[in-house]
Amino acid sequence: MNCNKETNIKSCTCTYSPCSRKGLCCECIAYHRAMNQLPACYFSEKTERSYDRSIAAFSKDQGR
Ligand code: SF4
Repeated sequence: MNCNKETNIKSCTCTYSPCSRKGLCCECIAYHRAMNQLPACYFSEKTERSYDRSIAAFSKDQGR
């Protein structure tokens, strides 16, 4: 199976430019899941830019 990196990266909303996992969604999710976090694409544009990927930040972003 071919990696979909080039396709995925077109819809990636992560603004953390130095990250080598951009477009590699499987690695991105595994990385953040291991830290009990969510990837950038779960967050609003404003919250994403804080780079706080915590579940608490997600809940707050959702107004919960
Ligand atoms: S969400 Fe995290 S792992 Fe995924 S591309 Fe952005 S910085 Fe990298």
